[in-house]
Amino acid sequence: MTYQGLIHRYGQYLDLPAHTKPISLLEGNTPLIPMPRLSRELGCELFIKFEGLNPTGSFKDRGMTAAISEAVGRGAKTVICASTGNTAASAAAYAARAGLRSIVLIPEGKVAVGKLAGAIAYGAEVIQIQGSFDDALSLVVEITQKTPIALVNSINPFRIEGQKTAAFEICDDLGSAPDWLCLPVGNAGNITSYWAGFKQYQKGLPQILGVQAAGAAPLVLGHPVEKPETVATAIRIGRPARGEQALEAAQESNGRIIAVTDEQILSTQRVLASEGVWVEPASAAGLSGLLAESAVGKFEVKGRRIVVVCTGHGMKDPSIITESFQSPKVIPADYAALIEVIET
Ligand SMILES: *Cc1c(COP(=O)(O)O)cnc(C)c1O
Repeated sequence: MTYQGLIHRYGQYLDLPAHTKPISLLEGNTPLIPMPRLSRELGCELFIKFEGLNPTGSFKDRGMTAAISEAVGRGAKTVICASTGNTAASAAAYAARAGLRSIVLIPEGKVAVGKLAGAIAYGAEVIQIQGSFDDALSLVVEITQKTPIALVNSINPFRIEGQKTAAFEICDDLGSAPDWLCLPVGNAGNITSYWAGFKQYQKGLPQILGVQAAGAAPLVLGHPVEKPETVATAIRIGRPARGEQALEAAQESNGRIIAVTDEQILSTQRVLASEGVWVEPASAAGLSGLLAESAVGKFEVKGRRIVVVCTGHGMKDPSIITESFQSPKVIPADYAALIEVIET
């Protein structure tokens, strides 16, 4: 039978209510891409779980298929979320698929163009908040307590259920859990989901390296960050909704949560692209953390099997690339000019 999406494939492992009515865009089933060059350089076996290949270009689709399926099943007509961008695009797409109205709140001017475009294209009502993601999330929580509008942020437990499937897929592909799992941490729903997924699936447990951006690293600093700043907009979060669970996952797994600078994130984005995997800046954080730790001898990579989660596609945030490079050369449409340009 052809692939029918995550609820069909892994529903038996997901704690979803009986009223759940599956709404799917055939999310999940993303590739675990071997990285031979990086593996050789580091002396380990490195794979990228490329979540940018989900239907709306990020891992958010895993949780959204579950959250929207549950909301539809209980008769919700409107869904709402706060978003740094990818949740908005995903909520909008799944709501469209289900015939629901979707409203998304984003921090003004801080959402990458590819994500905003997605949310609009799928028909969401997009509202910019003069504040941060954290302010937007507070408003969403309040409105869903006072009205029948359904909340689809990752404080919705069904989002976490759906996102566990990535851990299941990794175990199914490798035959067991890897030694290490490295991933970016923003609102901390994903790290929470992976840890829950690995524990439940019983194919072994990885150590977890969670990576925040230095300008938005509440879990490393040990306190909320009032004005988070980073080029990695998807993890520009100062008050993670699931911060405690993230710390628990790091601790229980004998791993840790660290921070990397924007420069490290952007240089790792180029490293990944140089091996054929273009990801958005936040998605480079996991590998960035691994490289930084191993460079200072804090991470024994030798002989280990390591999975790095790349959470979203590079096409989500193209301006990061186009702004930092000169625009391509322009030449006359003739052969002599072409040869001249190539050979000099
Ligand atoms: C949402 C998101 C993250 C952060 O995930 P959390 O569950 O909020 O920790 C990281 N990268 C991308 C591309 C995202 O969309």
